[in-house]
Amino acid sequence: MSEISRKNILVLGGSRGIGAAIVRRFASEGAKVAFTYFGSEAAARTLGQQSGAEIVKADSADRAAQTEAIAARGPLDILIINAGMGIVGDPLSLEPDAVDRLFDVNLRAPYHAAVEGARHMNADGRIIVIGSVHGDRIPFPGLSAYSLTKSGLQGMVRGLARDFGDRRITVNAIQPGPTDSDMNPADGPMAKAMHSFMAIKRHAHPEEIAELVAYVASPHAAMITGSMLTIDGGFGA
Ligand code: NDP
Repeated sequence: MSEISRKNILVLGGSRGIGAAIVRRFASEGAKVAFTYFGSEAAARTLGQQSGAEIVKADSADRAAQTEAIAARGPLDILIINAGMGIVGDPLSLEPDAVDRLFDVNLRAPYHAAVEGARHMNADGRIIVIGSVHGDRIPFPGLSAYSLTKSGLQGMVRGLARDFGDRRITVNAIQPGPTDSDMNPADGPMAKAMHSFMAIKRHAHPEEIAELVAYVASPHAAMITGSMLTIDGGFGA
């Protein structure tokens, strides 16, 4: 039995991309895994069947639905806050409602999820939020709203690490660079430009991000807290 196999794990936003790789990574070790989804019912069902993970429909932007999903699955050992969306464009043209939705999903929801997760978490628990290297570096125009959300997570991580440290709950952000997913396909129109900023000139595979998540979730990482762990092929170097 691995250390992870005895854990109760909830992944918020697990139906596709990086979240799905995280679900698979934990499920492959026999852990009790549940994940939320909102728009991708078919993908969620398929992943649930393949991995044995429980699927839960809950819009992260709906605080009551998210709170219920978390509370009903406690006591948790590990909470992964992955659900996120991207909006790129001229801030003078972006729809304010779309920007508010971005803030709801990428910033408001992670804060409430982390707090609710801690409320229903065992000692020595783990809260991991998926940030972005764009929390540190914005080499293109059109990313200010998205980057605001990922920079905001950094303050949350630092603060909550101190709030929950007495219970030995660690709070960290993992900050991917370009990673192959529906949100940012490796063969997308911006791929070449992104690779030009990188030391390792390719998109990461979602499984590479999941591997770092698994390490930070493990007992070996008990002294890592309040940290931003960047995995970006040198994008931000
Ligand atoms: P995808 O668009 O491929 O997947 C997003 C996932 O989040 C889906 O499972 C989606 O579920 C879920 N999700 C989105 N909105 C909601 C919502 N309102 N409620 C519940 N679930 C939701 O994105 P990625 O896998 O690429 O991104 C995952 C995270 O990684 C995000 O936080 C993103 O910002 C971050 N990131 C990604 C990078 C990249 O290059 N790909 C780089 C840096 C960070 P469903 O479809 O069922 O709604």
